[in-house]
Amino acid sequence: MAEVSSTNSGLRLAGKVAIVAGGASGIGKETVHVFAEQGARMVVIANIQDEELGKQVAESIGIHKCTYIHCDVVDEDQVKNLVQSTVDTYGHVDIMFSNAGIASPSDQTVLEFDISQADHLFSINVRGMALCVKHAARAMVKGQVRGSIVCTASVAGSHGSFKITDYVMSKHAIIGLMGSASIQLAKHGIRVNCVSPSGLATPLTCKVLDAGPETVELIYSEKKRLEGVILNTKHIADAVLFLASKDFDFVTGLDLRVDGSYIAGKYELV
Ligand code: NAD
Repeated sequence: MAEVSSTNSGLRLAGKVAIVAGGASGIGKETVHVFAEQGARMVVIANIQDEELGKQVAESIGIHKCTYIHCDVVDEDQVKNLVQSTVDTYGHVDIMFSNAGIASPSDQTVLEFDISQADHLFSINVRGMALCVKHAARAMVKGQVRGSIVCTASVAGSHGSFKITDYVMSKHAIIGLMGSASIQLAKHGIRVNCVSPSGLATPLTCKVLDAGPETVELIYSEKKRLEGVILNTKHIADAVLFLASKDFDFVTGLDLRVDGSYIAGKYELV
């Protein structure tokens, strides 16, 4: 196996090449900053609505360390090209943070389940996630890189919820994808894990709850949580960093819940 380049800088991701899907805002944007602080070179992607934000994130890191590439994760050709152009530019891919996702636009229970609405959500949350995993894994296998793939699921993925049925189903699917991929890719030295946050204030939840970040934080902090701590994007980005780095060298197939002991089955998720 080819050794990925590293330095003696002590940085956890020195010399690593990472792709961050959904890196224009929220959890993805924070992770781009944490990865950059730890020495990674990166490609950030976002969907068309967030293109300007994605470019701003890349510019804030610096042109030699971070590139923005527009990619709709639903489109297989775009995902394939994204991975190929990353390999062409940087030589290989070490890390895929597959994080692009959308929220359920409604509070639907199973009684009101609207399948066409669910189809749209699945196309991004499930199809997009699977395509990012597939093409990153293929590049890692081809380049003989012992890479790390991290997918953003949710505490909703391992429990049911009072509502948002389609979202819960999509996050269950991601945990299933991760489990299978981790088993299938272990022989190539590739690790696959999930990070599963409970609710936190990001553009996604602010939009769903139609409220500003402070109000959203308040809503979530009123639910049973680790006393004195409000979950934020840095908590999630740090968890992703561990999963992506050599610190978690022998960890694969893990759904890492970052939820302050929030018991998803017992309380409403949103
Ligand atoms: P966010 O809206 O800030 O980030 C989502 C990102 O995904 C955006 O940058 C957007 O451009 C990108 N994206 C959406 N559709 C895309 C597409 N088709 N192609 C490419 N990029 C696309 O919200 P966030 O909360 O940071 O969400 C990140 C992930 O975290 C999502 O998968 C979400 O389901 C998950 N999550 C969020 C929470 C929460 O409470 N915020 C909790 C659990 C899981």
